[in-house]
Order: sequence, then C-alpha cells, then structure tokens
Amino acid sequence: MWSYQHQYFSVHQLPVLKGNYIYLIEAHASDALIVIDPAEAVAVRQACKVLGKKLTHIFNTHHHWDHTDGNLQLKQTYDCLVIGANSDAERIPGIDTKASESDNPEIAGLNIQVIEVPGNTSGHIAFVIDDALFCGDTLFGAGCGRLFEGTHAQMWNSLSKLAALDDETKVYCAHEYTMANLEFTHTVDADNPALIQRMQNDGVLRQQNRPTIPSTIAIEIATNPFLRPQDVDFRSRYSETHQLSQCDALAVFRDIRLRKDQY
Ligand code: FE
Repeated sequence: MWSYQHQYFSVHQLPVLKGNYIYLIEAHASDALIVIDPAEAVAVRQACKVLGKKLTHIFNTHHHWDHTDGNLQLKQTYDCLVIGANSDAERIPGIDTKASESDNPEIAGLNIQVIEVPGNTSGHIAFVIDDALFCGDTLFGAGCGRLFEGTHAQMWNSLSKLAALDDETKVYCAHEYTMANLEFTHTVDADNPALIQRMQNDGVLRQQNRPTIPSTIAIEIATNPFLRPQDVDFRSRYSETHQLSQCDALAVFRDIRLRKDQY
C-alpha cells in the first residue's frame, strides 16, 4: 500500500490483479473512508483493517468488472453507500446514489466534483477531490482508455475536460500501464525531451517496483500522446509526418488512437 497526503485527506493506493490500482480516500476530519473502483473486496478489507476504519462509500468510475467486482461484498460487510454514474446506473452493482456532472456530492466535508468522461464506456465518470483526480480508465500515464463504447470525438472531448484541470492536479488512474504506453509514445513523439525524461524517471520507479502513478496533469499534457494534439506545433508536425489530410486536434488524436490499437 502506497500513501499520499493531501490537505484534507490521504490517498492509499492498493495494487491488485494485473496492474490495477484501487484507491482509498481517508478523510482527515471525519470517519469517511471512500474506495474508488474496488476491483476486489479482499484487498480493501485488509486495508480497512490496517487503517482501523470502516468503509463508508464506494465510488465507481464505470461498470467494468475490474472496477466493480468488490461492490456487493463490500456493501454487505460495511453497509456503505455506492455512488456511480446516473447514465449507467443499471450496470453499477448495488448503486445507491446516481451522480451526474452537475452534482457535487458533499461527503464528510470533502469537496467532490463529478466529470462525465464518456469514451472507454458510455457512462464513464471521473471524480475530482480538491487536487486529486480519479479518472478510472479515461486518462492513463502516457495513455488513454480504449474506445469500447464511445467515439473518438467523445473521448477527445472527455480528455480535454481533464486536461483543463489545474496543472498540479494529481492523476490517480486505475491501471499501471505507463511503461508500455511510453514505449508506444516514443514511436509518435520521439523528439519530445519531456518524454525522454519521463521514460527515464518512470523506468527507475518500475525497476524499484514503485508505482509511476500518480502523475500530474502537467506531466500528462507534456508527454501523453493523447493530450499532445492540443499543441499546435505537435499536431502540425504529426499530420505532416503521417500525411493526414486534416490537421485539427481530433483528427490527430484519432490517428494516434488507431495506431495504438494496432501497436
Ligand atoms: Fe480497467
């Protein structure tokens, strides 16, 4: 378990399955203990024991099993509340509170913002708590989720919303896919010095068996190939090198996403 301190809460990161991260948010000023995307119940119960606290809430970013499989067992153990997307309520096991983008659920004094980010799934949401972003399978370290249910335009719009968050926002995504993503990124953005630096930094972390996550919005804007189309120089260079007929951000994003699908 890795822990990170924020002003009003701590984030505990639990590595589970093959490269999944479950996050526990422990409020400083109350008994609130929130789990984000419990892929399984066992690891969460163990962490609750270590922390000496009971789980009060489950937040789900989307319906996939590797984000919701622990819901019902944890709900049974702790009688906690399940919060998920209003637009995908029928696919979130045990849902109690249906959240939309306009809702800002206040839980135990924590300032929580819901952002709708369709693309990976049609009902995918992200949670922002102060300077911490929990984005599930939308934005990854140097990557983004596959488009299982959404369009390229939807995903580009969703990623743009996340990129608009404060630069220092910590990006707590749900998978440790960074090194594989960086390897792909190098094939489309080899001349980017920030990318080379990140490959070195994150390579060292993984050699030491440490997570590359959280990153920050600033790091993702500088190195993530799925946010780089925001940069005018990058996209004009990219569209020229890859002979795209259009050089707008969405066309470049789409081309990079299609390449990654084939990689
Ligand atoms: Fe996933």
